[in-house]
Amino acid sequence: MRPRKQRRVGHSPASNYFKPRGVPMRELMEVRITVDELEALRLADLLGLSHEEAGEQMAVSRATFGRIVGKARKTVADALVHGKALMVEGGPVAMRPGPEMRRFSCRTCGGRWDEPFGTGRPQVCPSCGEEEVFRYKDDEMGGEQP
Ligand SMILES: [Zn+2]
Repeated sequence: MRPRKQRRVGHSPASNYFKPRGVPMRELMEVRITVDELEALRLADLLGLSHEEAGEQMAVSRATFGRIVGKARKTVADALVHGKALMVEGGPVAMRPGPEMRRFSCRTCGGRWDEPFGTGRPQVCPSCGEEEVFRYKDDEMGGEQP
């Protein structure tokens, strides 16, 4: 039995640390939101989905989604209003490959990454630069990929 149900995330953060300018590290307060909380902000506030729709996207109930996004907003507001550093880290998440993404792996280093459709086949592994690149399907996600 899994202790916590995993929440689906369709986007991984481009950056995971945000720091106000000009505050010395020793005076810096730090707050943290989890990757699922950031995803909640993305779905509700950036894409404008309802809690119902966004909850479906993340495989959680509407009520749970409301709780996640509420906590995320409060933490982000705290960081902005009080000039605290904001870290994005952790959380009970499983990356959901969107229908627009293809998954690739590298035989040389074992690295894995996603590429959107329409960009051509990657020539080399972004981690090690070798050409032993192959596409795979994520069976754990229940065969959503074509
Ligand atoms: Zn590699």
